Amino acid sequence: MNDEAIIRKHALANAAQFSGKANIGSVIGKVIAEKPELKADMNALKQAAAKIISEVNALDLETQKKELEKTGWQKIEKEQRIGLPPLPDADAGVVMRMAPNPNGPLHIGHARMAILNDEYAKMYNGKLFLRFDDTDPKNPNKVPMKKAYKWIENGLKWLGVKYGKVFRASSRLPIYYKYFEKLLEAGNAYVCTCEQEAWSRMVRNERRPCPCKSLDAGENLERWKNMLKHKLKEGQAVGRIKTDMEKIKDPAAIDWVAFRIVDKPVHPFAGKPPKKVWPMLDFASAIDDREFGITHIVRGKDLAVSEARQRILYEYMGWKYPVTKIYGKIMTTEEMVVSKSKIAEGIKSGKFSGYDDPQLATLTAFRKRGILPEAIRNYMVGIGMNESETTIDLEILFSENRKLIDKTSNRYFFVAEPVEIELDKVLAKTVKAPLYPGGKKFRKIHVSKKIFIEKHDYVANLEREARLMHFCNIVVGKKSKYTGTELNDNAKIHWVSKGAIKAKLVMPDGKIISGLMEPAAKIKPGQIVQFERVGFARCDKKGLFYFAHK
Ligand SMILES: [Zn+2]
Repeated sequence: MNDEAIIRKHALANAAQFSGKANIGSVIGKVIAEKPELKADMNALKQAAAKIISEVNALDLETQKKELEKTGWQKIEKEQRIGLPPLPDADAGVVMRMAPNPNGPLHIGHARMAILNDEYAKMYNGKLFLRFDDTDPKNPNKVPMKKAYKWIENGLKWLGVKYGKVFRASSRLPIYYKYFEKLLEAGNAYVCTCEQEAWSRMVRNERRPCPCKSLDAGENLERWKNMLKHKLKEGQAVGRIKTDMEKIKDPAAIDWVAFRIVDKPVHPFAGKPPKKVWPMLDFASAIDDREFGITHIVRGKDLAVSEARQRILYEYMGWKYPVTKIYGKIMTTEEMVVSKSKIAEGIKSGKFSGYDDPQLATLTAFRKRGILPEAIRNYMVGIGMNESETTIDLEILFSENRKLIDKTSNRYFFVAEPVEIELDKVLAKTVKAPLYPGGKKFRKIHVSKKIFIEKHDYVANLEREARLMHFCNIVVGKKSKYTGTELNDNAKIHWVSKGAIKAKLVMPDGKIISGLMEPAAKIKPGQIVQFERVGFARCDKKGLFYFAHK
C-alpha cells in the first residue's frame, strides 16, 4: 500500500467514526503508528494528509463508509488488539514462526512468545509455523525430550494458538550442511581447528584473525569432510562464518560458530548412527527462516546478537532479512518454578507430582488449577510489545481469570477440618442458597440437626451468636442453639450437613486441605467452582479440587 493509500484509509476510518469529518491530528497519529518512517518528513506528511482529508471530508458519510469497506481494512482493524502496534511492511503478507526448544513443557514465560506471534498472524490473516529448535544435543539443560514435542503442541493448542506447518530443525541437518558447504566454497566460512581459549585470546582480545581464516576453499572443504566423517572429534574443529572484525561491534558476533562436533549427542532424533555435526541455533534458524519464507519475526530482546550474526549470513547469500519486532525480556519470580532442572529434580524426589503439579508455573499446572487460556492471552496482550523488562505478576493474571470465571462459577460450601455440631431445632428440611450471589439460580441443601462447620469457625465463635450462611442464626457450641432466621451482621459461617462428601483441595504450595463439601453439588471434572470464602477451584475428578485463586 502506498503512503497516500495509507493516509486515505485512516482518513476514511476517522471520518466514519466522527460524523463524516476526519481530524488531521488523529489521522497523522494513526499513519505514523503504522509507518514510522513517514515521521522523517513531517511537512510532506502534513501536506499530503491535509489534501486527502479535505477530499474525504467532502464526501458524504455513506460514501466514506462504502469506500472504507472496499479497502477491506476495517475488518483487520477490528481484530487488532489494543496495545499491539502494527507490523511494518505487512502489506505483501505475513509469514511468521515460533521456535521453541522441546526441552520441557511450556511454562508461563513461553506463553508470551506464542500469543504475540498468534495475535499478529491472525491480525494480518497470515501464516504461522512451528519450528522445533532442537539442535543442541550437548547442553543438559537444552537437549530435547521426546515427549516435549507433543507437550508443546498440546500447550499451544490449549492456548488457542493456530499454526500451520510443523517441522523439526533436527530433521534438516543435511540442508544446513549443504548451505554451509556453499559458504565454504565461496570463502565466506571456514573450519577452525584452533583451541577455543587460544582462539578467543587471539581474535576477541587481540583482534587478529586465526590462521584458519586464510585457508583456501579446498582445504576448508577437506576439513569439513573430516568433521562429517568424524575424523575430527569434539573440540577439535568448528565451522565459523567469516566476519569483518573492523566493522563488527558485538564481539559475540565475530566469526561466529555455525557448526560444532558432538561426540555423543543426546537427542531423540539423532539418527542411526547418530549425527555428530550439529548446527548452532543461529545458523539453523537463519536458513529455515529463508527456506520457509518467513517475513516477520517477533522475538525477545535477548536474541539481538542472533540477529547481528544472521544478517551477516543473509548478506553473503544475497537474501533479504525478515522484518523483526523485538519485545523485552519477561521474567518469572522465585515463586514460579519454571526451570527445567528444578522441575525434573522435584519430580524425581517426589516434591512435585508431575509436570502439572500446582506448585509449578507450567501451562499444564495452570490449566489444572482452572486458569483459562483466554486469561493468559489477555494478560500477555496487555503487556504487549513492551520493550522493557517485565516481571510476570500473577495477581494481575488471576484478576484477568476472575473476570472470566466469576459469573459462571457456582458457589458451594467447603468445610475444612470439620467439627460436628448439633442444632436444637431445624425449621425446614431444605435451604435454598444462590448459585451465584444475587443470582436467580439456587441450589437446594438438605439440612439435618447434625451439621459440620470449620474448626476455625467453631473456636472463634464458641458461645457466641453467629450466622450459618444462607440458613439461620445460632449460638455456637457442640449443642448449638437456634436463634432465628433474620439476616444480621453476625459472623457468617459456612457449613455442610449430613450426607456431605469428602473433598480434597490441593493448594498452590502443594498442601492438601481435606474437608467436606455439599453433596448436592453435581460438579463435573473440568468445572470451575467457587468455594465460599475459600476461593475458586477446578474439579479434577470427583472429590479432588485444585485451588485457582481467591
Ligand atoms: Zn582457527
